[in-house]
Amino acid sequence: MSTKKPISSFSVVIPVYNEEACLDELISRCLAACEKTGKKFEIILIDDGSKDRSAEMITAAADKYPNKIVGCILNRNYGQHAAIMAGFSLVITDLAITIDADLQNPPEEIPRIVDHADKGGYDVIGTIRANRKDSMFRKTASYVVNKVAQKATGVKMKDYGCMLRAYRRPIVDAMLACNERSTFIPVLGNSFARETCELEVGHDERAVGESKYSVWKLINLQFNLLTCMTTFPLRLLSIIGGLVSALGVLLAAWIVVMRCIHGDAYTQGGVFTLFAVLFFIAGFQLVGMGLLGEYIGRIYYDVRARPRYFVEKVVGRDNK
Ligand code: UDP
Ligand code: MG
Repeated sequence: MSTKKPISSFSVVIPVYNEEACLDELISRCLAACEKTGKKFEIILIDDGSKDRSAEMITAAADKYPNKIVGCILNRNYGQHAAIMAGFSLVITDLAITIDADLQNPPEEIPRIVDHADKGGYDVIGTIRANRKDSMFRKTASYVVNKVAQKATGVKMKDYGCMLRAYRRPIVDAMLACNERSTFIPVLGNSFARETCELEVGHDERAVGESKYSVWKLINLQFNLLTCMTTFPLRLLSIIGGLVSALGVLLAAWIVVMRCIHGDAYTQGGVFTLFAVLFFIAGFQLVGMGLLGEYIGRIYYDVRARPRYFVEKVVGRDNK
């Protein structure tokens, strides 16, 4: 059906942050799933500055399975998406599959995804979490984010939050060529994709440990997502701002007219209404300034152009 290059090899890219409790099971299940495909593969584990034994365990696994497991040790914690980018920079195969280390998405889905990418010729394969096992708060946040992401990228994917995804090599290279520091990989990937599809996959509770995202980190991620792909909120702000001002003018005109008809007594009664309007507008301005600040903050980060991550060492590859 497709004229795209067949997938003869693939990489699994896994960011790891304090996941010592899951690592052994993760590695054995991933290895088993990858072997099933019968294709050449590489599992790239990125240690995102873990404080537990994760880095040692990754190094040991890379020694045990040379050329199957590659370890990439970052010198500190840079966040999930920066860690994945570090992993992408080591991809030398035709397809990169990202998956979380906490086994919320079963690695057993990997063969099906590889098969789909190969046969269907898709650039990006997303996944939808069937019966998602997360808190109400997380689900609601995801719902909003998905709607905004669909609008901004023009790619109608139902679940941008699920990290079990596959990207063909040209898409990975395009993402690596992007220099902005605060990114959200599923959205960035989709902005370069031509043919995409979504598969339904299972979703479990976190195997062990706690979510590595605090509420604060989560808020930060949502802002990254919103501002990484569009300046639409800024435009929306101007539109709503304009409407609110127009309303203010109309209200003022109305008060003048009523004052003429009913005399002085009327305006006195309106004092509190005016206050309410004032507060509304002042609040609106603050929201606007906050949003502007978000973008300016991001510009500041990007003009400094600090490296997105710093790789301390790569283990498990012959040529490194
Ligand atoms: N992660 C990371 N760096 C961080 C936070 C998370 O590499 O600063 C990794 C983490 O080890 C896991 C994945 O990102 O493999 C998703 O994290 P988590 O499962 O805690 O997020 P949630 O499922 O709660 O969204
Ligand atoms: Mg998780």
